[in-house]
Amino acid sequence: MSEPIDLLIHPRWTVTVEPAGAALEDHAVAVRDGRIVAVVPMDEARIRFQPGKIVELPQHVLIPGLVNLHAHAAMNLMRGIADDLPLMRWLQEAIWPTESRHVSASFVRDGTLLAAAEMLRGGITTCNDMYFYPGAAAEAFAEAGMRAVVGIVVLDFPTPWASDADDYLRKGLHARDRFANHPLLSFSVAPHAPYTVSDAAFERVRALADELETGIHIHVHETEAEIRESLTTHGVRPLARLARLGVLGESTIGVHAVHLSDMDVELLDRHGCSVAHCPTSNMKLGSGIAPLTRLLEAGVRVGLGTDGAASNNRVDLFQEMRHAALLAKVSTLDAAAVPAHRALAMATIEGARALGLDALIGSITPGKQADLCAVDLGGLLTQPCFDPVSHLVYSAGREHVTHVWVNGEPRVNKGVPLLHIHDKELLRIASLWHTKLAN
Ligand SMILES: [Zn+2]
Repeated sequence: MSEPIDLLIHPRWTVTVEPAGAALEDHAVAVRDGRIVAVVPMDEARIRFQPGKIVELPQHVLIPGLVNLHAHAAMNLMRGIADDLPLMRWLQEAIWPTESRHVSASFVRDGTLLAAAEMLRGGITTCNDMYFYPGAAAEAFAEAGMRAVVGIVVLDFPTPWASDADDYLRKGLHARDRFANHPLLSFSVAPHAPYTVSDAAFERVRALADELETGIHIHVHETEAEIRESLTTHGVRPLARLARLGVLGESTIGVHAVHLSDMDVELLDRHGCSVAHCPTSNMKLGSGIAPLTRLLEAGVRVGLGTDGAASNNRVDLFQEMRHAALLAKVSTLDAAAVPAHRALAMATIEGARALGLDALIGSITPGKQADLCAVDLGGLLTQPCFDPVSHLVYSAGREHVTHVWVNGEPRVNKGVPLLHIHDKELLRIASLWHTKLAN
């Protein structure tokens, strides 16, 4: 007797990511109650399953939903507001003044909705976010039906969201309580950066992360100026200071990690930290090239992030995969550095591991949630195709994404988004904020 399931997806190729390197041909993925129940040859699936729905994808590759390991989703409202400036001038002259005038719960909710819509149609099903008003961000991710780890941001100076470190934490915890037990959402503690958070605040962050067993999400070693300032103010490099304060650990995600001495790499490795590599943001802000191959050789876990739309300006992990692979090759003069399969693993399973979500997502494995993405490789721009993973990283783009599922629920179908909120309404929201921010 055949087994009833909700959905059977039959792509040309299934790239499970784990085991590494496998591109299964003519297999099918069976989904029941939002979970993957089997990945088997189609001939076997026909006999074994009685699907409620079959999705035939004859020229597509099916991959796990992509994991964006670092984002400021609400910054979609500031895409292109200030370009061609280095980090500190970009922050001090453009971003912080705009934020101090305009950031509010509705700003964050609207901007996050726009980013979630952009991410989902580009195959990103999970976002590790950091921004003000985390409760408003959580509302938007929930409305979009996207998986997210929402960072409870902490800074040592007042913003429209909170007055001091304690206030940031108190308000963030309140947001976390509102979404306790939400099937797609969880929270982390997100001290913004070593140069915006004091030792005392870091101690509270560490105590809270220990107590709640959450991750810590922080920008580190993004620019040389950050390191010089830390040496002047604290007498040590930022990572050494964070290690001294007990902030480095297996659930710590250090974002950027561009300027690293051998000692810094050793610290990240010894403490089991993960790195969110954001190659496009690092290039655009002229911050530098993160030593990806050195990190990987040392055994440090590395996932990929887009950073916010104001410093990228695409919230697009296909772009990050390509940039990560190409920058690794050109910076080491080694074409073998970071092959395509490695780049795809960073954008999926490694990001999931960094978030502690690898039992749920990150690979097409029976028992995991059905967060999936199908990419059409049948068109002129991607034919012929000898290796679908090569195309995913070096040729295809998010415009080739046709289907996206989160927990087995469709979010994009044949290239058309299936969100609760229509594109027309999203464009109206973007236009409204354009007018406000331009004045
Ligand atoms: Zn960032």
